[in-house]
Amino acid sequence: MNYEAVIGLETHVQLNTDSKMFSLSSAKYQNQDPNTIVDPTSMGLPGALPVVNRKAIESAMMIGLSLDCNISNKTKFDRKQYFYPDLMKGYQISQFDEPICYEGFVELSTNKKIRINRVHMEEDVAKLTHINTRDSNYSLLDINRSGTPLMEIVTEPDLSSSKEVIEYIENLQKIIRYIGVGSANMEEGSFRCDANISIKEVGSKELGTKVEIKNMNRISAVAEAVDYEIKRQIKSKENNEKIIQETRGWSEEKSITIPQRTKEESNDYRYFPEPDIPPLEIDNDWIDEIKKSLPELPKVRKEKYVKQYNLSEYDAELLTSDINFSNFFEETIKPNNKNNEYIKYIANLMNGEFSRLLNLDSISYVEIKFDPKDLSDLVAIYFENKINNKILKTVLEEMWDTGSKPNDIITNKNLVIISDTNELEDKINNIIENNPKAVEDFKAGKEQSQKFLLGQVMKETKGQADPKISSEIINKILQTKK
Ligand code: ADP
Ligand code: MG
Repeated sequence: MNYEAVIGLETHVQLNTDSKMFSLSSAKYQNQDPNTIVDPTSMGLPGALPVVNRKAIESAMMIGLSLDCNISNKTKFDRKQYFYPDLMKGYQISQFDEPICYEGFVELSTNKKIRINRVHMEEDVAKLTHINTRDSNYSLLDINRSGTPLMEIVTEPDLSSSKEVIEYIENLQKIIRYIGVGSANMEEGSFRCDANISIKEVGSKELGTKVEIKNMNRISAVAEAVDYEIKRQIKSKENNEKIIQETRGWSEEKSITIPQRTKEESNDYRYFPEPDIPPLEIDNDWIDEIKKSLPELPKVRKEKYVKQYNLSEYDAELLTSDINFSNFFEETIKPNNKNNEYIKYIANLMNGEFSRLLNLDSISYVEIKFDPKDLSDLVAIYFENKINNKILKTVLEEMWDTGSKPNDIITNKNLVIISDTNELEDKINNIIENNPKAVEDFKAGKEQSQKFLLGQVMKETKGQADPKISSEIINKILQTKK
């Protein structure tokens, strides 16, 4: 029997709003002393009243619009029963049947569309630290994170391999960072992904029992966990074992998934409308306003680079992989934007030498010592034929290290191309005098001796001689020797 995997993802994204989802305390809980950003609402005290964070709703609308979702004109919050000490109220305020956004999609490079079921808002929980030693056994509770806004993005079970899962995740991260509503970083926990996995016979329409996998703290762990779980389920099936609906955790040390709990049915959550928050009306004017505020999305930029600038798919993909990188490129082509040849040169430079230097130093974009305008000026100097490709790279490296302006570096180090005919003639006369053998070769009809002499000129001038003018001078002098 042949089996295929069916995968649906539930992704939690922390939003970078100033305040919490339902109260005014700061939402910036990272690196704070424990229990310093608390208030009655995020502590779950009886009688505390939640107030919805407008910015969080707008962030969810932005993400929804970017994922081609519909935005609900009416959305509401619900209580989801959840009994664990990291949520003091005994329930989480989430959204059940009327999420903010519904029915969108993410398109993969294969043109396969991964349907988005919904995007909704909820609150994050407090942080528990369990202390287990020989003579003590207790847990510490830090409430700072409690009540910070958490967006959940749920796909339909449309994914079928770890490769597709990774591409979907990377797409989502890219969109979140372009829009700027969060950092979408798995390692720091601002982007958490649970994978629901089942297997079925190839071609069958009937879905198998799903298992939910949690605890993956980096993107490659998601791939490993998904691959492991698919294999495990296929093996179970082949051994005629029943696959049970459960939640399993990815074990980083053992590289296996381990049973955590049998999965609750939806009705265990006992959802009911949150009585303290009235339903939220989102009118079309508000939706339009948010639509207008959206930045250019990576897929739109990529298409622009390919169609308008005539860049390759590959180059366009690299250039749009990171919002900061892409912005740097956009800012660099702006000041001297002449034509596609110029843009293509900058694209190659940024995907090549610029990326090499960036990776070498592993620095962030704010630490780059020069502005896009400086890079643009450097390329303009190259296009004016004042420096060649090799010297441009030398100057770029110097700009990278010191932040000096390209013109200053070129002047101070005297790097301009030598195109002065008199100056070149003097140099070339000297070189020809010192290379009688090349002159004999030329007389004997060996044309390549001209190339040899040009090589000597370039060597002598450290690559600064204008090759075209130099060739002409070499030829002129040699003719007189015939
Ligand atoms: P639950 O009620 O258990 O939360 P949902 O229907 O809300 O389940 O789906 C949760 C996630 O599981 C969604 O991403 C969905 O696409 C995925 N999913 C649902 N059924 C399956 C299945 N049979 N195999 C794989 N993933 C599934
Ligand atoms: Mg669900």
